[in-house]
Amino acid sequence: MDFKNQSINALTNHTFHCECGKDHLAAIKAIEIGKGVLNKLPAILKKQTKKDGSPLSTQDTVLLVADKNTWKIAGDEVDALVSRAGFQTRQYIFDIDKMHAEDRYVTVVRDQIDDTTALVIAIGSGTINDICRYATFKEGIPYYIIGTAPSMDGYASSVSPLITHNIKKTFSAVCPEVIIGDTDLLATAPDIMIAAGFGDIIGKYLAINDWKISRIINAEYYCPDVADLVLETVQKCVNAVPGLAKRDPQALQYLMESLVLSGIAISFVGYSRPASGSEHHISHFLEMSAVFDGQYGQLHGSCVGMATCLISSMYQQLLEKPWDYARARRHAESFDYTAWESETNRVFGKASDAVITLYGKTHQNDPLNVLARIDQIEKNEEAIRHLIQNVVDQTARTPEYLKTLGGLTDPNAFIAGGERFRDILLHAKDLRDRYAALQMFYDLDELDGLVDSIIQQYYQ
Ligand SMILES: [Zn+2]
Ligand SMILES: [Zn+2]
Repeated sequence: MDFKNQSINALTNHTFHCECGKDHLAAIKAIEIGKGVLNKLPAILKKQTKKDGSPLSTQDTVLLVADKNTWKIAGDEVDALVSRAGFQTRQYIFDIDKMHAEDRYVTVVRDQIDDTTALVIAIGSGTINDICRYATFKEGIPYYIIGTAPSMDGYASSVSPLITHNIKKTFSAVCPEVIIGDTDLLATAPDIMIAAGFGDIIGKYLAINDWKISRIINAEYYCPDVADLVLETVQKCVNAVPGLAKRDPQALQYLMESLVLSGIAISFVGYSRPASGSEHHISHFLEMSAVFDGQYGQLHGSCVGMATCLISSMYQQLLEKPWDYARARRHAESFDYTAWESETNRVFGKASDAVITLYGKTHQNDPLNVLARIDQIEKNEEAIRHLIQNVVDQTARTPEYLKTLGGLTDPNAFIAGGERFRDILLHAKDLRDRYAALQMFYDLDELDGLVDSIIQQYYQ
């Protein structure tokens, strides 16, 4: 199935029977991205139905949810458009400056939804979208998202990562029925948010590469068409960097489309493999650390962008070394579970139970598993080196792109101490059940050396 030449709307609400063996579906009714598209809202609302299938009536209320910053960008305009379409509106505006998606805010939104509320329109980016997605899923009503910044790839997602009891957990929910990305609004986003969105996108080169490598080493399911769909949209964003720096509407449209397409690719395969690899494992760890320390931390996409710079550089160094399989096998056999467990407790703190439970399912460092993977790596070294060379070519200029956009490339902006950052790089691979670059570095007994060189480069 060639997805590359389809419009974004042609990819949704339709089941594709693919040669990979899966049926691909992304259940989003409408996606409008471009200059001035917010004005299409009244026409879209006229086609909207309620949860019982009946059309929205003038008796129904549309609840508009924003925070005080995102309301300023589009709140009054959305309110006027919904009213013009003949529906009642009610507003809920979070009076908080820097908010995370926390379960207590989901409760706040749910309390605003009553019997007359037929639809929620979320106005914002990551946080407001995640909160409204889960609140409306729980209340069984539809929601739209009006994007205010091209900062992350969660617009089309069907899951909400929420902070509950200081831990970030991912909850299943539903996709929005409508996504609106008006480039006139997106152009008002601060530099750091646009750079973050670009960081989340350029990291997909690594994510797709991880997927290809895991297919070789672990015979993991892989869909070449979904991978190509993602790669093509990432390439468009890379070409659009000069335009993004000038907030050119066409460039912003490519970035927003790419962020939405990433979510569609995830829906297509049913898990986040096409959009998330080792760069995201580092990012999740950084975000989790900030929450533990009671800090806001940096934006998700900023974490992904910085991590992409580091993994790209680690891959570059890996290519320059001969891979010593005898040493890798000795290292695999020397794994000591008790020592690993005590390190995990030290490094992950409050999240260590979850990491240890996950290990009970995946056994990623157990010698037999690592030795089996080493065999596969040795057998396929040429093909794997070829993939790595390709991804290094794709990502080597990431620091330059991020700097052009006003983004962050230095881990010091995320973690103050080199020792803490070393822990994060060494252990991030144990956070998720997914084979990716950092685990392959471990398998080859190169992880410690590559991490050392990063720490030396940035912290000494
Ligand atoms: Zn497929
Ligand atoms: Zn992401």
